[in-house]
Amino acid sequence: MASSRIRPKTFDFVVLGAGSAGFNAARVAADLGKTVAIVDGAPVLGGLCILKGCMPSKTLLHAAELLHHAKHSKKFGLRIASARMDMKALHAWKKSVIGDFASYRDKAVNNPKRFTLFRAYARFLDSHTIALDDGTHLRGKHFLIATGSRVSIPAAVPGLANTPHWTSDDVLDLDFIPKSVIVLGGGIVACELAQFLSRIGSKVTQIQRSKNILRDHSPGASEVVQQAFRDEGIDLHTDTKIESVAASAKGVTVRFLSGGKPVLRSAAHLFNALGREPNIESLNLSAAGVKIAPDGRVSTNRWQQTSAPHIYAGGDVCGPHDIVHLAVAQGELAARHAFGVSKTTLRPVADQPLLTVVFTDPALATIGVLESELAAKKIPHLVASYPFDDHGKSILMGQTRGYVKIVAEPKRGRILGVEIVGPQAGELIHCFTGPITLRATVRDLLRAPWYHPTLAEILTYPLEEIADQLPTAARRSTRAKL
Ligand SMILES: Cc1cc2nc3c(=O)[nH]c(=O)nc-3n(C[C@H](O)[C@H](O)[C@H](O)COP(=O)(O)OP(=O)(O)OC[C@H]3O[C@@H](n4cnc5c(N)ncnc54)[C@H](O)[C@@H]3O)c2cc1C
Repeated sequence: MASSRIRPKTFDFVVLGAGSAGFNAARVAADLGKTVAIVDGAPVLGGLCILKGCMPSKTLLHAAELLHHAKHSKKFGLRIASARMDMKALHAWKKSVIGDFASYRDKAVNNPKRFTLFRAYARFLDSHTIALDDGTHLRGKHFLIATGSRVSIPAAVPGLANTPHWTSDDVLDLDFIPKSVIVLGGGIVACELAQFLSRIGSKVTQIQRSKNILRDHSPGASEVVQQAFRDEGIDLHTDTKIESVAASAKGVTVRFLSGGKPVLRSAAHLFNALGREPNIESLNLSAAGVKIAPDGRVSTNRWQQTSAPHIYAGGDVCGPHDIVHLAVAQGELAARHAFGVSKTTLRPVADQPLLTVVFTDPALATIGVLESELAAKKIPHLVASYPFDDHGKSILMGQTRGYVKIVAEPKRGRILGVEIVGPQAGELIHCFTGPITLRATVRDLLRAPWYHPTLAEILTYPLEEIADQLPTAARRSTRAKL
């Protein structure tokens, strides 16, 4: 230990954080033959996605969806007398699923032939040296900051900091059905877990500041999810201002204004789902010359380089979206850029069409640009949509909420964006990930076969509507290819 302080070992690449961004950056750098140090202080390796994010949440949501269908199966002729959630069993299933994923990751990271693993937290001493909390010092020619995010407690919510509350970590680890929960927030995590809690049998009150939940999505799509939440019994309040949060004898009390009128709600538990912030406070980034952007994230250029060009950042620390496939892509890009992979073959992550999925039911998914963005920028476009309540497969499944909407460029019909809110939206959107990336037109997609009766078949209706609006030349040139 003492010798490492005097003459720290130097690595080609030092990765801080073995989550989605960090692990994949390390993997690419090792493939390129570089010496790689991975530093992570978590008691269990795996990162947010595996341990306390995507995988546990989707395990629970899937179970809650099965329960919901079992409870609403009468019209399909099923008689399931007492469908209810056994939380101890679900908790055990979640733990076994997550345990498998985590042990797989642990094995991959614990591979001395590829990586040197340090189980410790790190902070910078200067732009090429880090100190670990076990006293070890390491030097790196290049670094990746991939230390993720943590739950934030907004100061603007009076009383929240002093009131005992759950975070998503706690909700994902429940082994009982809470009697009642107040959910603060209307973002993705808030909505997915509010619906989960409601479906397993908790009385849920959800309080959102802006006019709609899921405010980064179109109001039309948010309203479909909102209506479903209210119909399922969630006491949803939007357009609110929280005046106070306080502990009470029976749990918690929240006072807020809704449409200007005072409202009081009490529950056994409070779930703070108001957002996350980059996990960078203890990294001493100023010693490394790494600048922070006004939104509090690590500032990077399109190659993931920070203001110190040999130090890269990827994942939730820099954003701009907390999405796993982007964290992975940023990590991989950083490693390739750092180790001289030809710039002509590299593509900034920001150049990818943005793909989003909200795993509520109905689900909400988008790719590319939204109609509202094109309209705001006065960019000419064609738009067409089609509702699930007029589509064969969704009708026979009894899942008729929502719609699909496609926007396309008006000369050739190149698809610019798709919004789907409805059954299996998170799967259906993938009908467009390849085509949008390959700059396909609506006519290109109409040349493909679509099996009947499928949910995916609904996508052909707006495609056809847009194709019919295209100038004749564009239609003829496509036909010539057939
Ligand atoms: C409830 C929930 C559900 C989600 N669901 C989805 C989803 O369905 N789809 C999706 O795309 N995204 C989802 N996300 C977001 C997604 O999980 C994150 O965007 C992603 O996991 C971030 O990866 P990362 O590599 O940036 O950070 P992490 O995976 O958080 O990795 C950071 C690592 O850094 C380590 N670390 C921290 N500080 C230090 C330090 N000082 N020194 C060394 N190591 C350190 C930590 O121990 C950790 O292992 C969800 C998030 C939440 C909270």
